[in-house]
Amino acid sequence: MANTKQKQKKGDVSMKLLLHVCCGPCACYPVKKLREAGIEPVGYFFNPNIHPYKEWETRLRTAQEFAAKVKMELAVDEHYRLRDFLRRALNAEETPTGRCAMCYAWRLEETAKFAAAHGFTAFTSTLFYSIYQQHELMQETAAALAKKCQVDFYYTDFRPGWQEGIDLSKELELYRQAYCGCIFSEEERYSKELRRERKRAAKERKRLAATEGTGNK
Ligand code: SF4
Repeated sequence: MANTKQKQKKGDVSMKLLLHVCCGPCACYPVKKLREAGIEPVGYFFNPNIHPYKEWETRLRTAQEFAAKVKMELAVDEHYRLRDFLRRALNAEETPTGRCAMCYAWRLEETAKFAAAHGFTAFTSTLFYSIYQQHELMQETAAALAKKCQVDFYYTDFRPGWQEGIDLSKELELYRQAYCGCIFSEEERYSKELRRERKRAAKERKRLAATEGTGNK
């Protein structure tokens, strides 16, 4: 049953699709695109990666506001799991794929499980709209989870609608966040020191690569 192929044709409304919603603004374009394809998605909000609590609450309210405005059903996991996220994130920082891989896998797995448990044909996520996330990694992760949870993964690359999605979210007057979600991403967004450190590290990598290149000649 589980696969990543687009089995549904335009106008085929038989598919019951669960759409993981990371936030209201990121859902604007995917929902429009899916409806154009004849699919009426049901949204699912599960995002323990959003910190601090007030920010999570604001993004949840915005997702609900969006769902109400476009008349989309939205299921919500209201259990805020800050400590669980931090434990997983700090452990994942030490692994080669890092914290974002853990974050994608956790959210996509909960979505796949929810879809399987509630009679959905398939699942997907608004994460496939973001031009900032590791798209191919998420795609592989979702495909593997589809197999594990015995539910289809309905893959669509929503990224071509990036600007259209931004425009739609502004028309709907939705709150637009300034960073990805976790406290680590908030630091990455605002810390000048961290940015300087990263620039230094990138420069050093370049220098080493150039030295190696010269040495090989
Ligand atoms: S940066 Fe974004 S994707 Fe990565 S762990 Fe933080 S919230 Fe998740």
